[in-house]
Amino acid sequence: MSEATTLRAALRDAQTAIAASSDSARLDAEWLLAHVLGCSRTQLMMRGDDALAAADVQRYAALVARRRDGEPVAYLLGNQGFWSLELQVTPDVLVPRPETELLVEWALECLPADVAAQVVDLGTGSGAIALALARERPTATVTATDVSAAALAIASGNAERLGLAVEFREGAWWQACADQCFDLVVSNPPYIAAGDEHLPALRHEPLLALSDGADGLQALRDIIAGAPARLRAGGRLLLEHGYDQGAAVRALLSAAGFTEVSTRRDLEGRERASGGRRS
Ligand code: SAM
Ligand code: GLN
Repeated sequence: MSEATTLRAALRDAQTAIAASSDSARLDAEWLLAHVLGCSRTQLMMRGDDALAAADVQRYAALVARRRDGEPVAYLLGNQGFWSLELQVTPDVLVPRPETELLVEWALECLPADVAAQVVDLGTGSGAIALALARERPTATVTATDVSAAALAIASGNAERLGLAVEFREGAWWQACADQCFDLVVSNPPYIAAGDEHLPALRHEPLLALSDGADGLQALRDIIAGAPARLRAGGRLLLEHGYDQGAAVRALLSAAGFTEVSTRRDLEGRERASGGRRS
């Protein structure tokens, strides 16, 4: 019988195993072991000399192997933090990204507190953006759409668990919204071009959430084209896009008659979201 594995040794071995496929291998190893043991990462650090039970060694090894194969930590844990919310995520939804919080911040600047604004999040996935807005602006009426019924099931489960009121609608972009009008439209649509070199690394996430199957701008075009008819005068459209799509999205917004067209950069200084105002 082999010597008992300590938590410290298990973490070290896992970090080594994960290193080739993750640039946050140590953190990933800690999250996965904390998940197996049902404790916090801080507690792990205090228990470094403890032995890991054989069953836990096996469960941990299975998770580490999946992480090494590129599965996002969020799918392995079953949840992901976004804004101030803990969201359930499964492979039916994109793992919400920290840079998408930029869109939430921008949306909140456009939404005065205590106003009964009508907001829609197109392509809501896990519900991340819609739920963050509903949390921060309880007086707003928030609608969230997706063409994926499986994604909507996850999003509505998140709304229920968090006790947040969001109305969910199934359908392709504007088709999901009947003839409703909004004060604010936000969307993080699929914007990766078909065949893009980044897609293989994202293979565990739904392709529908990542790529429009065309040049990467098709979903953005569809949303922008339909937006003027669905926005009240003075209303805003805010869109996340790829780091090299800012100029194209600004041009689409201007061509659709939007004013005050501008782009915001992420923490790394890359163009990440663009928006405009319906005059
Ligand atoms: N809003 C979530 C977030 O930021 O984490 C998910 C964004 S994900 C990049 C894009 C979402 O758009 C996916 O949930 C996908 O199912 C949805 N989607 C793709 N094509 C769509 C379409 N034609 N109409 C509506 N939603 C669509
Ligand atoms: N931000 C995601 C990525 O680059 C892409 C999400 C999207 O297409 N909206 O991994």
